[in-house]
Amino acid sequence: MADKKEIVMSGIRPTGFLHLGNYFGAIRNYVKMQEDFECYFMVADWHSLTTHPDTKELQGNVQRVLAENIACGLDPDKVALYCQSHVHTTAELYLYLNMLAYKGELEKTVTFKDKVRQHPENVNAGLLTYPVLQTADIILHRAKYVPVGKDQEQHLEMARNFANRFNHRYGEVFPEPVAYNYNAELVKVPSLDGGGKMSKSENQMATLYLSDDDDMIRKKVMKAKTDNGPTEPNAAKPEYIENIFGLMKLVCAQDVIAKYENDYNSCNIRYGDLKKQLGEDMAKFIGPIRDKINTILPDKKYLQQVMEQGAEKANKSANETMKLVREAMGLKYY
Ligand code: ADP
Repeated sequence: MADKKEIVMSGIRPTGFLHLGNYFGAIRNYVKMQEDFECYFMVADWHSLTTHPDTKELQGNVQRVLAENIACGLDPDKVALYCQSHVHTTAELYLYLNMLAYKGELEKTVTFKDKVRQHPENVNAGLLTYPVLQTADIILHRAKYVPVGKDQEQHLEMARNFANRFNHRYGEVFPEPVAYNYNAELVKVPSLDGGGKMSKSENQMATLYLSDDDDMIRKKVMKAKTDNGPTEPNAAKPEYIENIFGLMKLVCAQDVIAKYENDYNSCNIRYGDLKKQLGEDMAKFIGPIRDKINTILPDKKYLQQVMEQGAEKANKSANETMKLVREAMGLKYY
């Protein structure tokens, strides 16, 4: 009999349309991993509540994220594709882990500090304990690998700390989860405006969504920040130019990239041509995914079936872990 497969877990918040960063940072790895690992991928609907979204939009957003993941190649028959709120034991494990997480370390989290700066009027306890809930999501399946983008590195370190703390206090139940990318390095897909990462909620004109139409893709790429070109041969690239070459590496052919590298190094680069080429290649890459999203999304019955099937698989794995957790903690009285 084959060895038991290693376990993988990751999630995406239903806070808007998925974009190129979600694809290359996370979903591309999900699709590869589904062949060789036991995979749990969830729509993180509870996580999205920390920022108080209009919950009337939740249903549509959850269905969209599911459809977008499937359109990217995720197969609901091969993995558990489910909704966080359909696995109630997540909340139980979150409660236990909260007793092992300290206010000081949570306050030091970079994403928490960013959120406090952006929304000083909404510094709620859920926001502070976000990394604890994320740890519960992961270790609930005793997952070892977590395919995520570079922005999640610190959260994963915290997940390792919380899992280790549990093991030391109550006995070995959890493996140490590690961030995972097939290309060894974690990926950060930059925003088209020259700074920061592409993100669902920030600067929509600088973010390439998987559901953008071809003209919108071309338009956004043409607006990407450039300058008059280098003034001396083999000059170092400013960050916003480096970012554009980074985007080319995701979708353009090797010889196309080599041509523009040479043009840059010999001070002959024409950014208008480069962006036109990049816009075409992006449209070619995103087009088939967008078309699939548009065929899956209207099929609500299918999406319900996917969610039910996913919840069943996720709950089975979660219940097995929680039995071990309660026993290890001594929460077993007869
Ligand atoms: P967002 O930041 O767009 O709201 P999420 O927080 O839901 O996205 O993250 C979902 C996954 O996508 C995570 O694994 C995250 O690391 C990855 N991700 C998000 N943006 C990027 C990006 N620009 N580059 C690489 N990975 C990203």
